[in-house]
Amino acid sequence: MSIYTPDTIQCNGETFKLFISRDQIQQRVAEIGRQIDEDYQGKKPIFIGVLNGSFIFLADLMRHVSIPCEMDFFKLSSYGDEKVSSGKVTKLKDLDAQIENRHVLIVEDIVDTGLSMSYILRQMKALNPASVKVVTLLHKPGAGKYDVKLDYVAFEIPTLFVLGYGLDYAQEGRNLAQIYVLDDTRPASN
Ligand code: 5GP
Repeated sequence: MSIYTPDTIQCNGETFKLFISRDQIQQRVAEIGRQIDEDYQGKKPIFIGVLNGSFIFLADLMRHVSIPCEMDFFKLSSYGDEKVSSGKVTKLKDLDAQIENRHVLIVEDIVDTGLSMSYILRQMKALNPASVKVVTLLHKPGAGKYDVKLDYVAFEIPTLFVLGYGLDYAQEGRNLAQIYVLDDTRPASN
């Protein structure tokens, strides 16, 4: 079966419409992969995916990188099943890899207020890596409350709730190959 790319979807009883297409995503992911390839020549970076949302982005991104590299996962919880941030961050899974003296690339699905990323950066820096940079698929500059430096950003978006390509709404929608936004113009029953 070919990859499922509808223009609108229903998720948990609400209607979402296409926001960033598969082609647009694939093009930016390839560009960022090539940029990382150039920036890390002669180094062996370790990609740290922030679970659960980054898993598709991380998998696609790493396939555009040709230099030797490694990966690990770190898991946080902050949103629960809601569309707005709970304002709390909890660590659910720590790193397995040793990152002392390593070049670390944190891979996130979305930076909203920056709370999660500021927490992750504090945790990583305490482990004395050689360097730490942040890669994020999406950034909502309008929501920024915490000052975090983002080194690679695929798309800047307005302060809207999105899902797909790893991002969920109450755990659903992560499998979608495109990014969708809540469609306020259509009742869910249409
Ligand atoms: P922050 O700590 O920057 O406020 O929020 C980061 C986390 O909130 C992301 O890793 C993601 O899990 C969640 N998040 C923020 N905005 C959205 C959104 O528009 N859609 C979804 N599905 N999750 C979001």
